[in-house]
Amino acid sequence: MAQQLSDFRPVHPRAASVRTMVVHATSRPYPGFARVTLRGTGDGFEEDFEPLGFDQWFRLFLPAPSGTLDLPVGGAEGWYSRLLAMEESHRPVVRNYTIRDARRAGHTWEVDVDFVIHRCVATGEVEGVAARWALQARPGDRVGVLDQGRIFNTEGHTGPVLVVADESGLPGVEAIARSLAGAPCDYVLEVPDAGDRRELPGAHPTWTVRTQGQSVGDSALEILRLRTLTPDTCVYVVGEAAFVLAARSLALAAGVPKSGVQFCAYWRVGRRAKRS
Ligand SMILES: Cc1cc2nc3c(=O)[nH]c(=O)nc-3n(C[C@H](O)[C@H](O)[C@H](O)COP(=O)(O)OP(=O)(O)OC[C@H]3O[C@@H](n4cnc5c(N)ncnc54)[C@H](O)[C@@H]3O)c2cc1C
Repeated sequence: MAQQLSDFRPVHPRAASVRTMVVHATSRPYPGFARVTLRGTGDGFEEDFEPLGFDQWFRLFLPAPSGTLDLPVGGAEGWYSRLLAMEESHRPVVRNYTIRDARRAGHTWEVDVDFVIHRCVATGEVEGVAARWALQARPGDRVGVLDQGRIFNTEGHTGPVLVVADESGLPGVEAIARSLAGAPCDYVLEVPDAGDRRELPGAHPTWTVRTQGQSVGDSALEILRLRTLTPDTCVYVVGEAAFVLAARSLALAAGVPKSGVQFCAYWRVGRRAKRS
């Protein structure tokens, strides 16, 4: 019998501390994304870090508005209290990002992080501390990282798997497809620009491109409404908050139990992330 979906829990890293990484390279792999490749700096990251694949994510600490990078150094426990205890002018900006890919680089690790370059609808200006930082990042720039493990976990599940995401989930979806190594999985993925679509290893995703005037997720939800979901499907949905909740509701209405839906609101229209 298939494992109870409620058994699926996030996978936490075995050890994690706030560590420093340095920008090694930058590129623009797709129109809507800036890629920043980070490398460990020999401050202990090498000993801590264990690539878990799938949608392994981390807290990213960016320089404070003053330009300085002071970090709430120490273990994962209590990092937020340590952050709040820092003087406001030196407190780093914290955002959440996913490891698109990780590889050995000499004595350390190298990770690719793909940032959505999101713009203000009214002015067309790039908005958000992280999106702007990624566009301006240069080799040698320093950041802080704190590994958080992964959310996607279908271990032991024998039923169908459906992955649903907007563009912010794509770096993780690429890593999920690579980690699944061709195991069956259905994907419904929405992007703002046809050029943001990409090959997913061993997968045949259904892509949909948002049209002008559509809200984030509308197009993916249209496709989902036409899908026949069986109650034994494990559904994973990430992206804009309202879209994620709507997709989750569709899955529940189709008879998937709450425990069968792994979901995470990655961002919210009109609201910047906390810990700015
Ligand atoms: C576990 C997890 C993993 C994530 N992984 C990634 C990842 O790999 N790549 C990635 O790009 N994002 C990822 N995100 C989402 C990312 O953390 C948010 O988009 C974050 O708000 C971006 O910070 P910012 O400083 O650029 O914008 P903010 O200062 O947080 O927001 C400024 C404005 O931009 C809007 N905004 C924020 N994000 C987006 C967006 N993606 N599209 C359109 N408008 C937006 C907000 O509504 C707000 O109005 C992840 C989130 C989580 C929780």
